[in-house]
Amino acid sequence: MHNIDIDLVEMTLDVMKYAINRITHTDPELGVPKKAEELKAQVGETITQKGIGGEKAFELFKDVFIKATVPIDHPRHLAFVPAAPTRAAIMFDLVTSASSIHGAYWMEGAGGIFCENEAMRWLVSLTGLPEGAFGVFTSGGTAANLSAIVTARETWRTKEENRGKKGMVLTSVGAHSSIKAMAKVADVDVFLVDTEDRLSGSQLADTINNLEAKDRERLFAVVGTGGTTNAGIIDDLEGIAEVCQQESLWFHIDAAYGGGALLADSVRHLFKGIEHADSITIDPHKWLFSPYDCGAVIYRDPELAKKAHSQEGSYLDIFKDEGAHGFNPADYQIQLTRRVRGLPLWFSLAMHGTDKYKWAVEEGITLANKAGEMITREDHVELVRDPSLSCVLFRRKGWTPEDYRDWTYKNHRDGIALVTPTKWKVGDTYETVARFCFINPHTTKNDIQIVLDTMK
Ligand SMILES: *Cc1c(COP(=O)(O)O)cnc(C)c1O
Repeated sequence: MHNIDIDLVEMTLDVMKYAINRITHTDPELGVPKKAEELKAQVGETITQKGIGGEKAFELFKDVFIKATVPIDHPRHLAFVPAAPTRAAIMFDLVTSASSIHGAYWMEGAGGIFCENEAMRWLVSLTGLPEGAFGVFTSGGTAANLSAIVTARETWRTKEENRGKKGMVLTSVGAHSSIKAMAKVADVDVFLVDTEDRLSGSQLADTINNLEAKDRERLFAVVGTGGTTNAGIIDDLEGIAEVCQQESLWFHIDAAYGGGALLADSVRHLFKGIEHADSITIDPHKWLFSPYDCGAVIYRDPELAKKAHSQEGSYLDIFKDEGAHGFNPADYQIQLTRRVRGLPLWFSLAMHGTDKYKWAVEEGITLANKAGEMITREDHVELVRDPSLSCVLFRRKGWTPEDYRDWTYKNHRDGIALVTPTKWKVGDTYETVARFCFINPHTTKNDIQIVLDTMK
């Protein structure tokens, strides 16, 4: 047994005290970014030959660095897709780190991976995919989308006539930027259907029928979105699934943001057809209250993912023990060495039960609807479209893009809120509008009112 240095014990207690204080503090200060030069001037050299000491480094973190960050779980952080990890999940994130579990292979990570898989089984059950479907936790939606695209592409390329061909995926303008970015990584082209609104099966069929023959030949997948990041719009998953079936195309559904809403009885019907997907992305670190980073990719047939992703190497080839035979998360996505990042979700789910999760997701949807009603009642603002999932797009009458920008910065600087504008396409032009995205079930009507009042 090693002797543990008394300073280290004190440091550990200080850090734990800080962590406990932070997670019980539901209204943390909204930090603002600073230029790197300013931060450097404030702190000086932090990496030195002898070390500056834990106390000093921690002090700098508390006094300088944390103040230059935005707590994304702040109840008035309504920009992008916020987060609101449960305290249980955050505490267990600390335990996950402390336990030093390797999450790539069952041989080393069995107990941790078992827990992840329990949470995964529940996640898969929300999708309605048939028996045999399964998935793994990834670093996020981007990695999940890439893993799915590569699996689809490799599956397509197993056919003799597709060997060596550059593939193409089809999606809509409303799809997340990561689809386009990851298609680049996988060296496949993307064909975009020009709509930010709900992509329908008939639109998809028309688009495919109008493709040039050489493009139709290399089209191997369609990506539908289960809750667009900008507006919470769910594509016509059932219609798209039908077309994919007829055309023998892989159907990937990106529900990184919206996937949590599969839990919500009030909107579950909008996802009808998701059970026909070949692969699905869901980010627990968005609407399932996990700390960063935790995404997930689910496959109808995980064997296809294994064929695409399983890594081979002489040093990886040592599974002799009976107990070492099990599920290896590394085989189903792009990452080898990995944290058991599904463990915090497992603990929080086990502790709270799934009903609590259902409640928390419904709260986000209720907040969006409430915000919609409040906006409709006020004179200075109006809805751009009805709230969808937990997204609300609205305009401040008479404002220019510069007004939205100045308002965003002022609210942030004043520590009131972080709410950012977005663009919404009307006809051929993009209009700058305001956007709320609700995740945190502890955001209140009063929080919404405070933000609306800053627009007067
Ligand atoms: C956020 C998001 C992503 C990217 O996920 P990361 O976890 O940020 O990598 C992909 N697709 C959609 C629809 C998203 O909302």
